[in-house]
Amino acid sequence: MPAVNNVLVVGAGLAGAATAIHLAKAGIAVDLLEIKPDIAAIGSGITLQGNALRELRSLGVWDQVQAAGYAFDVTGIRAPDPHGTVVAEIPDARTGGPDLPAAMGMPRPELARILCERATEVGVKLRYGTTHTGLAQDEGGVDVSFADHSTGRYDLVVGADGVRSWTRRALGVNLETRSVGMGIWRAFGPRPASVTRTDLYYGGPSYIAGYCPTGEDTLYAYIVEDAQDRSALSPDEQLATMKQLSQAYHGPWDEIRETLTDPSRVNYTWFETHVLDEPWNRGRVVLIGDAAHTCPPTIAQGGAMALEDAVVLAELLVERDVLDQDLWDAFHARRYQRARTVVDASNQLAQWQLDHVQGDIPSLMRSVAILTSQPA
Ligand SMILES: Cc1cc2nc3c(=O)[nH]c(=O)nc-3n(C[C@H](O)[C@H](O)[C@H](O)COP(=O)(O)OP(=O)(O)OC[C@H]3O[C@@H](n4cnc5c(N)ncnc54)[C@H](O)[C@@H]3O)c2cc1C
Repeated sequence: MPAVNNVLVVGAGLAGAATAIHLAKAGIAVDLLEIKPDIAAIGSGITLQGNALRELRSLGVWDQVQAAGYAFDVTGIRAPDPHGTVVAEIPDARTGGPDLPAAMGMPRPELARILCERATEVGVKLRYGTTHTGLAQDEGGVDVSFADHSTGRYDLVVGADGVRSWTRRALGVNLETRSVGMGIWRAFGPRPASVTRTDLYYGGPSYIAGYCPTGEDTLYAYIVEDAQDRSALSPDEQLATMKQLSQAYHGPWDEIRETLTDPSRVNYTWFETHVLDEPWNRGRVVLIGDAAHTCPPTIAQGGAMALEDAVVLAELLVERDVLDQDLWDAFHARRYQRARTVVDASNQLAQWQLDHVQGDIPSLMRSVAILTSQPA
């Protein structure tokens, strides 16, 4: 008998969808609540590291992910010079194991669609376009009220509702999310044939310019600058700003720049960070993924950490037969320090760039690769 019979998962992102799939596969009744009316509507791309791919495979979606994404095993480092000169080609660690690629680019909506279809297939009840409005727990369960005036009682509530978690707020958890000091322009568009892996351009007028192939026909490109208030810009002005910043970068960027024509595919956001001290649960409500820890995407590990939280939590809930302190201790022992180490490393990389300091990036990347190569 698993430790729980019915679970409410709040948020159908990577953490929430993965939790829901694993629990439902084990025969647990799962409601998956998503505030957006359609999660697969729009979005940019995501870089999934090998350890994220390992967890996606455990969900039973590897074939679909592989078919939709674009795998690569080397990251290029290019100079911000007139030729976009390649200065290094660094083999990426295969953190998911030798039988999985080191990294894969994916369109986010496609990944969301694959996960939600899998959730439905294994019996998860997906509820779009609504949220919870009240949580009240006692020894035996959590009473939940919903925005559509329905109610439910669950053995466990999993708050996987992202960086600004509503569930975290409902628990009264006081967590300050801090701006890292960087903002990122991202654009989604067609992939020129010359883009077959991620290349990073360090320096020039921005901190980083880069791109990642997300499929045979698509990529996302990005430019990282000092965080600033860009909210007054119209979509056309946003597009023009990103194009203008990209002028310093050449090689494949020259082709990418030409394809930057659709303002609706350009977006700007700040890098933010936080780590919630353990415990991540308050009784029968637990926070996972970005709700508990958020890192800037400098090593592209946020998605992997969210998936790992989900897999470890679900594994413990299925293997144990009581939801007790022992279970929570085991969960935190496997998740807290690992997630904190990854967040700290991601912040360190950002800080070196903000301070214009030549940090020991190879050694930092090596230590993260050693850690994340071990299954969570
Ligand atoms: C600019 C940027 C680039 C990034 N690039 C990468 C990358 O390349 N690789 C990588 O691994 N990570 C990347 N990350 C980090 C990654 O996106 C996150 O770590 C990951 O998405 C976290 O997953 P999650 O499921 O915890 O949260 P989310 O993906 O945020 O999902 C939360 C879900 O909860 C829903 N929700 C929110 N509130 C409610 C509510 N009240 N009720 C119901 N549902 C709700 C949301 O709509 C959403 O669907 C990036 C982050 C940023 C900001």
